[in-house]
Amino acid sequence: MSILKINKLTKFYKISSSKKFKALKEVNLEIDKGEIVAILGESGSGKSTLMNIIGGLDTDYSGELLVNNKLLKNFNEKELDKYRKDEIGFIFQSFNLISHLNVLDNVTIAMTLSNVSKTKRIKKAIDILEKLGLSDQMYKRPNQLSGGQKQRVAIARALVNNPKIILADEPTGSLDKETSVQILDILRNISKSGITVIMVTHSDLVASICNRVITISDGEIISEEIRSDSVQFNEEYDKDVKHKQNLNFISAIKLALNNMKKKLARNILISIGASIGIMSVIVMLSLGEGVKNYIKDIMNENLNPLTIELSKPIERDDYRPFYEGVKTLEKEDIEQLSNIDNLHKIEKVFNSMMSNSRINIDDKNYNIQMFSTINNNFLLSDLLEGSLPKEDEIILNVMLSDLIDEDYTKAIGKKIKVYFVEESKMLEKEFTISGISENSYQMYFNYEDLESLYLNNGLEFKPNSVVLTMNSEDVVEETKLKLKEMGYSPSIQEQMLGVFNEMLDVITYVLAGIAAISLFVSAIMILVVLYISVVERTNEIGVLKAIGARRKDIKRIFVSEAFLIGLFSGLIGLVLATIISVIANSYTNNLFEASVSKITIQFVLFGMIISVLLSVLSGLWPASRAAKLDPIESLRHE
Ligand code: ADP
Ligand code: MG
Repeated sequence: MSILKINKLTKFYKISSSKKFKALKEVNLEIDKGEIVAILGESGSGKSTLMNIIGGLDTDYSGELLVNNKLLKNFNEKELDKYRKDEIGFIFQSFNLISHLNVLDNVTIAMTLSNVSKTKRIKKAIDILEKLGLSDQMYKRPNQLSGGQKQRVAIARALVNNPKIILADEPTGSLDKETSVQILDILRNISKSGITVIMVTHSDLVASICNRVITISDGEIISEEIRSDSVQFNEEYDKDVKHKQNLNFISAIKLALNNMKKKLARNILISIGASIGIMSVIVMLSLGEGVKNYIKDIMNENLNPLTIELSKPIERDDYRPFYEGVKTLEKEDIEQLSNIDNLHKIEKVFNSMMSNSRINIDDKNYNIQMFSTINNNFLLSDLLEGSLPKEDEIILNVMLSDLIDEDYTKAIGKKIKVYFVEESKMLEKEFTISGISENSYQMYFNYEDLESLYLNNGLEFKPNSVVLTMNSEDVVEETKLKLKEMGYSPSIQEQMLGVFNEMLDVITYVLAGIAAISLFVSAIMILVVLYISVVERTNEIGVLKAIGARRKDIKRIFVSEAFLIGLFSGLIGLVLATIISVIANSYTNNLFEASVSKITIQFVLFGMIISVLLSVLSGLWPASRAAKLDPIESLRHE
């Protein structure tokens, strides 16, 4: 019964667009199950070409090739992968072991690709390695083995998936005579167990053990010689291992991890490089969150929880800076507000954010941009010294009191002149300092003082803000909502906070842009590194394909590598971000007792996902390039 039948097989190699080279010329061949056949020929006669076609590595030919009466030409890619994996065992002259895997892993990889369970894999591999006399070499790397040992490992790898046909391309070509005899003995025994062995050689020694010798020259079979027609074999090799499944994700990750260990320094460096982008993302988000929280804290700390400060916004289309964005409050407004439920007290307030007013200290004038009239919003805890201003009194801020005397307690009771500029009139009034506020900028007058000063000079004076003091903290929020519905808006300070938050958002976006750029650079870096890795491992890819790896499997191995780089760089980025955050926080804690960076679990997850996603995406192209590599050319690649 023939296991292999070849009819008029012709193969052309394209040399240039117009030139073709005929490597096989209408080859006819029939091989029976369990035969051990030698294909003998000079170098360049077309032996490897024939083997590659039989092995399903090369599909570009004309003529017929039947394996088990099935036409190989009709196989789709999936069937062809399966054919290579399950039916064929390849043995190469140059062994083609995977250098970064040890002996055991080199043998099990063929089963790993078939997703055989780990225990089964190892048992089977050890079994075969023992039979081939390699039981004490299992944990060595290929470069620690002799030539004969390497070839035995290659044979073990070829046998492990229970192939029907072993294709050996000059299996003893790199071995001395004694070792060659050992290897040939093994191959003969294999054929006795029912596996068909086809060997390509230019050595008579190899031919001597075969029951058929076919001589090929210039792509043509020129003679055929039967040395012994008694094919006797005991059909004992087990058929229980069925390979339905394929390389699973965990195995792919393990393979990738194994490979990355080999290029450890490079992979650490690339992960560190790629981590910078992730770090910036996490730091940026955490900083934004931390600063926002900090501002919120400050606002809440310095506000009386019972008070609501509010003003009346000007119309939207009437564009003016936010500090001018309020209307004066009229009598009707005050009346309306006085009737609010749960109200304890209502105070008219005048807030000036950008005035041209000046204060005279030691015969020098200083600009005062911000001032307010005193109200319940001001907390006594903000008063460093002194008391709240009564008639003709003022609360000065520390910065200005410093100009009077470094010791701010000595400023209390001193008199100072203030000039208010309003509608090209200059109003002048002398005040006594009643207290010093902790706030560096704000200063406080009495509403009534300013009112009478303006009125005496024939000017209007109206509040631009109102402070409501409520009966209880519980009603503050609902009252705020009610006031909003009535058309009032939060205080200028609160509006300012909004503007500040918007600014912070803008800064965050800018930082995000920077992070995006570094992520982009990382992506390109990962892409290049993986591409280099593909080039370096071309031969390995060829081997994997020869032993039945599908495109998907190859792709998966490289994508897994990208995944791991993403994971590692994400982790490094997280560690760096945490370090930066801790340092920043300890610094600001010393400075003003607050943390500015707040890493949350969401940010961490976001960073990790971005890192892995980006890395995998950048790995896709090199991975699919690897998957598309031509197996024969890859095998030739050194
Ligand atoms: P053997 O294995 O018997 O030494 P090969 O099968 O490798 O010979 O090659 C047979 C002939 O085909 C040689 O002349 C070789 O130069 C040619 N050949 C092999 N591969 C290619 C290729 N990819 N492109 C062009 N010619 C090739
Ligand atoms: Mg060859």
